This record gives sequence, C-alpha cells and structure tokens, in this order.
Amino acid sequence: MREQFKILLGYPGALIPQKWFIRASGQDLIFPFYHAVSDQFMPHVAYNYRVRTRKRFNKDLDFLLKHYEPVGLDELKAPGRGGKRKKPAMFLSFDDGLSEIHDVVAPVLISRGIPAAIFVNTDFIDNRDLFYRYKSSLLLDRFESIKYSPAVTEIMQSRYHLASSHKRCVKEFILSISYKNKKELDAVARLVDLDFETFLKVKKPYMTLQQLNELDDRGFYIGSHSKDHPLFSEISAEERKIQYRESMEFLHTELGIDYRIFSFPFSDNGVPAEFFREISSEDSPGVEASFGTRGLKKDTVSFHHQRIPMENGTVPGNILIRGEYIYYLLKGLFGQNEVKRL
Ligand SMILES: [Zn+2]
Repeated sequence: MREQFKILLGYPGALIPQKWFIRASGQDLIFPFYHAVSDQFMPHVAYNYRVRTRKRFNKDLDFLLKHYEPVGLDELKAPGRGGKRKKPAMFLSFDDGLSEIHDVVAPVLISRGIPAAIFVNTDFIDNRDLFYRYKSSLLLDRFESIKYSPAVTEIMQSRYHLASSHKRCVKEFILSISYKNKKELDAVARLVDLDFETFLKVKKPYMTLQQLNELDDRGFYIGSHSKDHPLFSEISAEERKIQYRESMEFLHTELGIDYRIFSFPFSDNGVPAEFFREISSEDSPGVEASFGTRGLKKDTVSFHHQRIPMENGTVPGNILIRGEYIYYLLKGLFGQNEVKRL
C-alpha cells in the first residue's frame, strides 16, 4: 500500500530535476537494493518480488549513475574521508545470495565499475536448503500452472481446516505459513509431488561457496543475511543472536571475510535497540554496517542504513527513487522521516 503510494508520487516527480530532490532532502547517500536480475521466469521468486530484466536493470543503473557516484564500504564508515565527493553517492546491495548475482549481475557491475555488497543466507549456500518463502512461491506456481483434481485441495481443506477447498483459499493458506511452521510447506509439497531437493539439485538457485569466493576476489563485499531468513522481530533475542553470530562465523571461516556487514531478512521492523547495541559493541569484531528495507529514511542507529527496494516489476527506477524522495519530504513535514528504536 505504502509502496504503491510512493510510486503514485514518483510519476509527477519525474517532472522535477533529481538534483532538486537531493538538495531539498539533504539525502545525498542512497542505498538501492535488489535480489536478482533475470530475463527468465523465476518460479521460486515470482510470488515474493518482481525482479528486473537485464534491460530494466541497466536502465536503473543509467539513471543512478547519472545522479550518484557508486561508493564502497569505506565511504559508509568514514563519509568524505576519501576526499570530497563530486556527486551524491549510492551504495548498491543484493540480498538472498541467488545464482543470478554471479551469472548476470556481477558481470554488469564489473563492466560498469560499480562496487556492491552481496548478503547471503549461510544455510543456503551451495544449495543445501531453500528459503521457506521460495518454497511457498514454488507451491503457488504449481497450483497456478497445474490443474489438480479436487481431491488434492479437499485434503488440504480438511487437513488445515480451511474455509473452503477453493484454489484461492489454498493459496492464501500457503502464503500464511510462517518461519515457525515452515515444515508445513514440505508436507504440502509432498501432496502435490513437488520435490524441493530436486529443485535445488537441478535448478541450483543459490550461489556456491566457490562462486562467492570468486566474487570476493573480484572486490564485492560479502555480508550476512542471517542463517535461514527468519523475520527478526518474530524470533527470540537468543535466536537472533544465533542467526547473526553463526552466519558471521561461517563467512569468516569458509570465505575468510574479516569484516561484518549484515542485512536484516525481510525487515528490521520491531527489532529492539538492544540487538543493535549487541552487534556493535558486545560482539567482536563489531558490525561495520547493517541494512534495513524501509526506503529512504534516516535511522537513529548510526551504522544502520535504510535501503530502497528497487523490484517493482515494470515501474522504472527513476520513478521509484523520486517517489521515495517525495514521500521522505512529505513525512519530514510531520517529523516522521526517521526510524526510532526502543
Ligand atoms: Zn531476503
């Protein structure tokens, strides 16, 4: 809803020069982020976000590079230390560790000289397991593309006490399955003969350790996106610590990553300030930068940066970015363009 409102604002915003937005808001460092870029249909991703085609991704980059200078981690840690920037800046990042990052995105970024951070779920590297929301998406795609006999949806209705056996009701149920009861997705998959193991083996949706090593060598930053992608506000403080520490330790041991950057799975919404304190001071080494997904917004935590989701199907990147700026300026009128934490 809020995303649609921002897009609505973005279209008239296209009439105003981008420079004006940057000057009026003072926001001269932005954080656009993506998951994948592909010209192929990605059934595991399709119901989660609408990825860019190569052409649209390049168009986004054309716009971004026209107005922003791509920067690396050093600039985030010590803004301006590398000398005064000629242009406003952007820090690009990619979540979930999908194989398209290695195959499609990295060659584009290398050829255009753009640094970027790649955030991976360490349990999924080498296709050892599949994010539960990707399982949901594969199931929804199954129900969309194959006409099952009514017996299948009737079993679903009685097993899960659904209001009806209608396909729409079944799909809503699949989408409602959360991290805590994600095992149900495996049960539903068995019912419709969908084998996630085979999908992992044949499709290889994730990058391998070797590919990540290669990208590390090419200068990409590799960070953690947790172990297996829970919503951080829904798990306990202890679980949050385990998700963070074990994924960081994995990156250190397996890839030799000696810095810590972290992007919150889904959102940082509802994550207490205490967690930020822990990862910055109690842990060693402390986190250098962490990232949320709330669009253009300031944050009271100095090392935490809110990123702009760039995957909205066919909506051009310049509209998405301008919509974010107008929304930011509007919220600023009410003093609400900063994330505050308890
Ligand atoms: Zn993610």
